[in-house]
Amino acid sequence: MGTMARVPPLPSIDEARQTLLRAVRPLPPVNVSVGDALGLVLAEDVTAAHDVPGFANSAMDGFAVRSGEAGRRLRIAGESRAGTPYTGTVLEGEAVRISTGAALPAGADGVLQVELVDVDGDAVVLHEEVAPGRNVRDAGGDLRAGATVLSAGTRIGPAELGVAIGAGRMALLAAPRPRVAVVTTGDELVEPGTRLRPGQIHDSNGPTLAALAARAGAEVIGRGHAVDDPEATRVVIEQALDEADVLILSGGVSVGPHDHVKPVLLELGVRELLWRVALRPGKPTWLGARDDQLVFGLPGNPVSAYVTFLLFARPALNALQGADATVPRTSAVLAVDVERHPGRDECVRVRRLADGRVEPTGPQGSHVLSSLLGADALAIVPRGEGVLAAGSEVVLEPV
Ligand code: AMP
Ligand code: MG
Repeated sequence: MGTMARVPPLPSIDEARQTLLRAVRPLPPVNVSVGDALGLVLAEDVTAAHDVPGFANSAMDGFAVRSGEAGRRLRIAGESRAGTPYTGTVLEGEAVRISTGAALPAGADGVLQVELVDVDGDAVVLHEEVAPGRNVRDAGGDLRAGATVLSAGTRIGPAELGVAIGAGRMALLAAPRPRVAVVTTGDELVEPGTRLRPGQIHDSNGPTLAALAARAGAEVIGRGHAVDDPEATRVVIEQALDEADVLILSGGVSVGPHDHVKPVLLELGVRELLWRVALRPGKPTWLGARDDQLVFGLPGNPVSAYVTFLLFARPALNALQGADATVPRTSAVLAVDVERHPGRDECVRVRRLADGRVEPTGPQGSHVLSSLLGADALAIVPRGEGVLAAGSEVVLEPV
């Protein structure tokens, strides 16, 4: 009687991601000046060093006065300009000319905008009543001294940058950008723009993966290419591993006679975390680690490389930066039937229709890179028999 080898089931997307994220050690944070902080992930909470604004000031160009009724005629006693406050006190019967953002002078508790007054020599006539606080921005109206205004793990965008500076900061503790090397493999690859000879293709994965890495907050420190030869593959990978926190490889990871990536990585001391995922496209994905370095052996097919970057490399890059690695999943309803794969969960590139339902962008072959054009999300169509019917709800991963 013959025996059947028991092949363990391939890990799902979630299982693979968990295995990977368990191996991630966040990069030690560094102090960066606010001028260099855009796009980095904060490694500390930021509290306001003082009230923002630091002083009560005017929301309008006009006149600072004591609150009171309409029709008053007041002597213009001076001016409070942005950056140059009025040093006196506004007395009964007085007004002080004031600019937007200028400090509200002592004695005044309201501002009437210039459109609502008449100036007559050194006097001003108020056409409206001024209630206490009219057109006054209170001290601390934006940020209160001591309040936490940004939390560790936040990616610093333009607004975060402005708030941090307003809160008094000139430097921030943040994760450095992970240093990423991208290496493509394959005898058939030629540089963009090169006239193609029979059997050749342009290396689209190299620049595309580098762009994805940059968009995920990484610094791409180099790109390399290895022909399908074990020694050439070893030289290029060894050099990339010298410098990089993360090595992203495309192609050469399968089991063909010209696939040399896996044995070379093992030889260079990279430990296998995972080989193959119950996923389409992207089944032949190899994930590894060497100490704190991460290695992504992504399939060469362009859609597979792109999808597996999004599913695995992107959250890992987030985790390296101390950001939340949880993928923000949403859901939507399929507008059409979608064929299912019996054994693997499929990441279908979908566009969102005006009614919120989603439909595949077009043919979904792993070589059809144009299926990513106009894609709003990856719909995860669970493995199974037949079709997943129109009207079914699917989980969406961001692209
Ligand atoms: P491989 O994983 O090396 O077997 O490659 C699978 C498929 O992806 C083959 O059709 C390759 O020609 C293609 N491919 C591999 N690397 C790249 C690349 N850098 N850019 C575009 N296509 C690629
Ligand atoms: Mg190849």
